[in-house]
Amino acid sequence: MFRMKKCVVCKKYTLEDVHCNKPTIVAHPPKFKINDVYGKYRRMARNKE
Ligand SMILES: [Zn+2]
Repeated sequence: MFRMKKCVVCKKYTLEDVHCNKPTIVAHPPKFKINDVYGKYRRMARNKE
């Protein structure tokens, strides 16, 4: 199985470890986890107000 990578320079998806002379990042983080983190921060921000 291939791991989709993303170039942080040109924002294109690639399978290469290096693109635009920069190391690429893994392009498929679990979406629900990201939403959960944002929800947490949003709640923290609300409590501050
Ligand atoms: Zn690139």
